[in-house]
Amino acid sequence: MIFRYDKGIKIIGSQLWLDAHRSVEFCCVSHAHLDHAKKHQRVVATPETLCFLKQRIGKTGSVKLNYEEPYEFDGCKITLFPAGHILGSAQTLVEVNGLRLLYSGDFNMGESAAAEPIKIPGSDILIMECTFGRPIYKFPSRKQIEEQLISFVERSIEDGFVPVVIGYVLGKSQEAMKILGDAGFEMRVHGSIARLAKTYEAFGIKLGKWDRYKKESLEGKVVVAPRTALKTRMLKNIARKRTVFLSGWAMHDGAKTRFGVDEAIPLSDHADFDGLLEYIRQVKPKKIYTTHGPRAFAVYLRQLGYNAEPLQPERQLELF
Ligand SMILES: [Zn+2]
Repeated sequence: MIFRYDKGIKIIGSQLWLDAHRSVEFCCVSHAHLDHAKKHQRVVATPETLCFLKQRIGKTGSVKLNYEEPYEFDGCKITLFPAGHILGSAQTLVEVNGLRLLYSGDFNMGESAAAEPIKIPGSDILIMECTFGRPIYKFPSRKQIEEQLISFVERSIEDGFVPVVIGYVLGKSQEAMKILGDAGFEMRVHGSIARLAKTYEAFGIKLGKWDRYKKESLEGKVVVAPRTALKTRMLKNIARKRTVFLSGWAMHDGAKTRFGVDEAIPLSDHADFDGLLEYIRQVKPKKIYTTHGPRAFAVYLRQLGYNAEPLQPERQLELF
């Protein structure tokens, strides 16, 4: 065994942790979503992830690592590869004594408007997320989803409503901004999203014509906000609005009610079921551990002839 799982992945015989859920001395952080990132003494991550971490959880000791530039630590060779999930997101390949372990972090196989496209290395052992690891999760094409979003915004404006796009503060919101900005819409953005959007732009991803939301006329403009803003004065003050939530969970009929919105569009920053299987075909692992999704995914994989099991013994996250 090359690793053990103990609130994070620990490489045995070294001080290296991957996405530890508690503070440790030395940790590779796959991306800056807070279910993966904690404050550690020293963090290895991409320059983009380090920047987001500083904004979100404060300054830490750091090792800045570009994609595909190997780094040696405590007998381990660490290489980061783009994961296609959000800007700066990485898969982590650890090589110890000729054995390769790939930790996927969160990943997306398709195109993303605002993240580097995924690049998949081969590995002997694969620890992979499987958020959408059930066959019901088959997302429409990227083009269809972008058209759905643009058409929602156009229709709302035509009908005299302010379109309000709801998405997670880091990643999803900026991706929506990129799609809408490229389509020529002017946006007003919640403060928490605006701070992170500036970092996207500092790394060269131009998001179009936008400004931080202030109380002003919103005629012809699109508002971008996180879900937490639905209950705040900012959104309550907009009398005529139509809300849309962007998430892979939009595939469920109950999503609109569950998230308290008028529309839901499955713009996902995770792979869908077929994407997860394609990922495995490209990695060609001998052993698979699944995490961040339904335990049933490991059962599907075993039925397909893979040597697979869930990483954690306890119940794993499933939103529906
Ligand atoms: Zn994530």
